[in-house]
Amino acid sequence: MVDLLTPIEYLKGVGPQRGELLRNELGMHTFSDLLEYYPFRYEDRSKVVAVRELTPQMEYVQLKGYIREPQLVGEGKARRLVAQFRDETGSIELLWFQGANWVRKVIKSDAEFLVYGKVAYFNGIPNISHPELEEFAPEALQDKLKLQPVYSTSEKLKAKGLSSKSIAKITKNLVDMLEARDLPENLPVWVRDKYKLPLRYETLKYIHHPVSEQQAQQAKRRLKFEELFIAQLRICRLKIRHHKSRGWVFDRVGDWFNGFYKEHLPFELTNAQKRVIREVRTDLRSGHQMNRLVQGDVGSGKTMVALLSMLMALDNGFQACLMAPTEILAQQHYASIRQMLEPMGLPVAILTGTVKGAARKQVLRSLADGSVPIVIGTHALLEDTVVFQNLGLAVIDEQHRFGVAQRAQMWKKNRIPPHVLVMTATPIPRTLAMTVYGDLDVSVIDELPPGRKPIQTLHRSEMYRASVMDHVRREIAKGRQIYIVYPLIDESEKMDYESLYEGYEQVKTWFPEPDYRICIVHGKQDATEREQNMDRFVRGLAQILVATTVIEVGVNVPNASVMVIESTERFGLSQLHQLRGRVGRGAEQSYCILLTGNKLSNESRERVQTMVATTDGFVIAEKDLQMRGPGDLEGTRQSGAMNLKMADIVNDYPILEVARDTAMELLEQDIELEKPENACLKAFLSYQHHKNHWSKIS
Ligand code: ADP
Ligand code: MG
Repeated sequence: MVDLLTPIEYLKGVGPQRGELLRNELGMHTFSDLLEYYPFRYEDRSKVVAVRELTPQMEYVQLKGYIREPQLVGEGKARRLVAQFRDETGSIELLWFQGANWVRKVIKSDAEFLVYGKVAYFNGIPNISHPELEEFAPEALQDKLKLQPVYSTSEKLKAKGLSSKSIAKITKNLVDMLEARDLPENLPVWVRDKYKLPLRYETLKYIHHPVSEQQAQQAKRRLKFEELFIAQLRICRLKIRHHKSRGWVFDRVGDWFNGFYKEHLPFELTNAQKRVIREVRTDLRSGHQMNRLVQGDVGSGKTMVALLSMLMALDNGFQACLMAPTEILAQQHYASIRQMLEPMGLPVAILTGTVKGAARKQVLRSLADGSVPIVIGTHALLEDTVVFQNLGLAVIDEQHRFGVAQRAQMWKKNRIPPHVLVMTATPIPRTLAMTVYGDLDVSVIDELPPGRKPIQTLHRSEMYRASVMDHVRREIAKGRQIYIVYPLIDESEKMDYESLYEGYEQVKTWFPEPDYRICIVHGKQDATEREQNMDRFVRGLAQILVATTVIEVGVNVPNASVMVIESTERFGLSQLHQLRGRVGRGAEQSYCILLTGNKLSNESRERVQTMVATTDGFVIAEKDLQMRGPGDLEGTRQSGAMNLKMADIVNDYPILEVARDTAMELLEQDIELEKPENACLKAFLSYQHHKNHWSKIS
């Protein structure tokens, strides 16, 4: 029997040197890691196509024919060897930018060649750069019946003798050693039968060394399903466990909630807000821990849902906290919530990194002795020194800025975990709702408060800056306020600060004092300075706020009607959507002006056009996911934890859906995987757990 956790260097064909390389370059430690290093495509060297059959959809092709007239053409970097390839049906060009001498030696004009490579089109005419060449011999094709796997590798690996071909060779050594019992089945028979999936043992053989296209496809399909199914099983199990785990029972609706609702609510709730509050109430009464996500576009009024939920906790004798991702946002929540609760005589505290010394001690004491029932804060709330007398509900605002880990940290803040309500304005594409947030129950606020006019979004290139500033001036004349936002991708990027300050100076020349008052906020200011500036803007003392994306989340100034975004091409779609959401919060017509350079890449243009075309956060989130892939999206970095090597949650959405349904179906009958038919799954999960643990310590 082969132990798949054997260190990679002990595999035939690897050895200590290559072993080290594989470990360092590809993070490959064991036989098992190699087995899960799947080829990303196959070369079919048994097939020969005719030139006439070539289509732009084909990628790699093999042709058979004669090569003539090699000639050096072009100058400098573009200098290349060009040869004509011809079969009975037509001709194409072969190109070499390097190694011309060697190629000339190989080419014989009277011999037939097999030519293999990736077809490209120049002015509609096909060519192949740097094709592989081999003199044709009739037996040669017979040897090549099998598909050749192609593995991704790096220049460094290639230089050290680990080309795709050598990786294929060592995986072959491994696969040839394996017997069925080395790769025990992990999917229950009924699942495999239902979806007609090959055995795991077969799958891993096929994926590396398929004998037909069909085998490769079958193996891929099974691997995708298996990965997604296993991930869903974990996620859904967590979700079901939440539903079963003990939670504080909030069965009373008392004076705080009712008093506030009747006397102090500043507006009528939207139907969507009412519905979500009902959903929260049902959770809080259930006796199980709530883990609910409230998803609502920017400006949909999530804060009020949070506040009313916190009052339910108070009515049942518990404390509540609200955690925000930035100091500015925490301050703003604190100010508005305190203002709303003060008339009722309810004390509210704030705890952030800047609350220090005696003030901090005071807050900590009042939370520990229960004299303060509500605290608003940042990550600072998670610290071990923050002890509650009796925390019953934790609200996490803008969840996409936090991770799963922080949520779990909150659970520890009471003997029985407090209820958790997480809120996000980043609409969650359906794939993420099933994966990263798959263990949460979801409520959606799908309605904006009445009286809002849709924001008008305009795209202007640098050339039209003057007219944009005129627009800004007209809005200020009407009493409105303006945001001008600069990209700051990396807080430590010096250049970005320079352009921010240059921009600030420029704005000052467009809008001179004393007629105009401008303030600036960014992440490098100390908190007091930032707060003071922010505060001037919030209170309407300054008309223009020059800022970085620190204002992206949550900041609420209903009188602001124009959002000017500088260098829009440097922002991602979700970020742009968040920024745009800072305006359009009052009854006035608002504008979002996207300034860009005069020339745009296709991708930037697509982003800008999407922003102009829609204000639907959901559409934007899907587009963002499509354009960037799941790896980059905020919140999805956590999806790395799902261990997906073959599947892709965007492109394989249909499989994801089936995998989730199947996982749910299975868990509903056997959550602890105790039935004999599920034993294989249980064994696999604990094996994976053990393996992950092992690779972390090794
Ligand atoms: P978000 O969902 O982006 O966090 P907020 O909670 O900040 O939105 O609410 C945005 C603005 O809308 C705030 O000024 C808030 O007072 C106001 N608001 C919330 N709910 C309503 C409502 N039902 N009617 C009118 N205004 C509302
Ligand atoms: Mg908010």
